[in-house]
Amino acid sequence: MADIIQLLPDHVANQIAAGEVVQRPASVVKELLENAIDAGASKIKLIIKDAGKTLIQVIDNGKGMSETDARLSFERHATSKIKSADDLFQLHTKGFRGEALASIAAIAHVELKTKQEGDDVGTCIEIEGSDVVSQEVVVTPKGTSIGVKNLFFNIPARRNFLKSNPVETRHIIDEFHRVVLAHPNISFVMFHNGSESFNLPESNYRQRIVNVFGVKTNEKLVPVDEDTEVLTVSGFIGKPEFAKKTRGEQFFFVNNRYIKSAYLNHAIGSAYEGLLKEGTHASYFLNLTVDPQTIDINIHPTKTEIKFDDEHTLYAIIRSAVKHSLGQFNIAPVLDFERDANLDTPYNKTQAKMPSVEVDRSFNPFQEDKPMRSSSSGVTSNASSSIPSYKKEKGPSWESLYVGLESKGTQTQQGFSEVQFESAPVETSIFDEANQVEQKQTTYQVHNKYIISKIKSGMLVIDQNKAHQRVLYEQFLQNITVQEAMSQQLLFPLELHFSPQEIEIINQLKNDLEHTGFVFKSVKEELVEITGVPVSVPESEVSIILEQLISDVENEVPDSNFSATDLLAKSMAKSLAIKTGQSLNRVEQEHLVNSLFACKEPNVSPTNRTTFITMTVDELDRKFV
Ligand code: ADP
Ligand code: MG
Repeated sequence: MADIIQLLPDHVANQIAAGEVVQRPASVVKELLENAIDAGASKIKLIIKDAGKTLIQVIDNGKGMSETDARLSFERHATSKIKSADDLFQLHTKGFRGEALASIAAIAHVELKTKQEGDDVGTCIEIEGSDVVSQEVVVTPKGTSIGVKNLFFNIPARRNFLKSNPVETRHIIDEFHRVVLAHPNISFVMFHNGSESFNLPESNYRQRIVNVFGVKTNEKLVPVDEDTEVLTVSGFIGKPEFAKKTRGEQFFFVNNRYIKSAYLNHAIGSAYEGLLKEGTHASYFLNLTVDPQTIDINIHPTKTEIKFDDEHTLYAIIRSAVKHSLGQFNIAPVLDFERDANLDTPYNKTQAKMPSVEVDRSFNPFQEDKPMRSSSSGVTSNASSSIPSYKKEKGPSWESLYVGLESKGTQTQQGFSEVQFESAPVETSIFDEANQVEQKQTTYQVHNKYIISKIKSGMLVIDQNKAHQRVLYEQFLQNITVQEAMSQQLLFPLELHFSPQEIEIINQLKNDLEHTGFVFKSVKEELVEITGVPVSVPESEVSIILEQLISDVENEVPDSNFSATDLLAKSMAKSLAIKTGQSLNRVEQEHLVNSLFACKEPNVSPTNRTTFITMTVDELDRKFV
């Protein structure tokens, strides 16, 4: 039989390699920025059009390339950075595989202009899908400019697979952040669709973080410095009270290279133990310096994961370094004094024995949950006991369970009895009549996660978090679209700081947010002043809700019918819903079940996840054969 094996032509091999190296425009941004850094540039400019789908250009003032090198740089496995396999263990450059430019040129239109110091003229090469279209002598400044146009022009499937512009832009900005934070000594500028998104002068590390994330970041940072034989840790961690709901601002750099490490991330999490609100993540910007011989960065094509020789020791050092900083800067006690509690001190003295409190207590079936709420929100229990509970200290579960009712009526005793009245009819239709007797328990909570309830045909197992998201989602949607929701006036305006990109998103959603009950005094560059919040939203949750919302908008998937209103309702429902792990008392459980079945679509959460399952007696019987 004839031989059938052939060597793949270069352009095919390059296209295949491109599949690994270039997933999306952001991957090109990363490779080009890294090449510019490796070329010793002190100034780097990034120009993006249409989230990189139309153009990605990086201009640097680095050492440039000779005419021959310019041509060679597009060959696969062409690199100036290593010469032998041994060099892999002494890497001081970002690149070393020599496949980025070859891969990019295989799937886009590329224009390279480059000139070395001392040369009179430079070289311009145009390549389209691995074919060199032209090569000329040009007049160009020292350094290199690489423009990448029409990414994936010859692989329509990949091009169609790209996400919406906001999502792709988000990925580009993420890569940009990772590069600029690792190199504060290089100045970076980024333009998107003609307007300047970042202008970062050469600076120290703290200043760079502040320039990227906004002026207010400065006061949130605590320095970390630890020098040991195996590892140097330096950089900053965020104060616990500024912890974010999303993992956005978490950066590890190893020898100036951004890496992801769930294991080392865990080390930081454990150092913060007991200091963070549930579901929030501390920010960190940490540079680890280790001997290049003790790491292997070759295990992943996009090089964000690396292997350490001695992970356990690194874990211990990082954990203790972070703990040390938190202790040194006396972070922990700050948590005990939440602003609310301080503001309420006068009431503490004058109204400690208000009769209304007594009345309220006897009617309030959630009383037993209060201490839990107090500790989680950081309000001292002393303060909470003195405040009429219907005004100030509602447990998260209670508060959010009654969200719709509160927004319809006043927050008084009447409102409260109304709740029980309203839920009764729903109950009749769903539950076994025998269970109508007041005292009898009809629901059980399992592992603080599921609620089990008896129905005529068998039983229901409800996911408390997903079910509550559904309940809140429908209530918020109604508030936004049908009626103006009630707003509670804040005693002092709440000032929240955001980056310019985040402010842009808040501006887009401002109108809808106002419908849910938010009142904005101003939305300025980096600063939002809020004077009113929806009645259902505790003041302490506001910043977390907005953060969550911003991250949801940034990660919005284009194919899900995007509507700002819907997204807002979903995001707020997600933020405020009862969490897994939260213990609910009997009344709360029952109310959740009732509210769920009063929904239009009780079966699924706002993100289309199952909220409950049923199991009939028959099914149970069959399990006992
Ligand atoms: P690698 O970075 O892994 O070496 P690349 O394909 O990214 O591989 O680049 C190939 C070579 O092209 C580099 O080794 C370098 O010599 C040269 N090169 C790429 N970009 C630049 C630049 N901006 N300035 C100078 N030389 C560059
Ligand atoms: Mg490279």
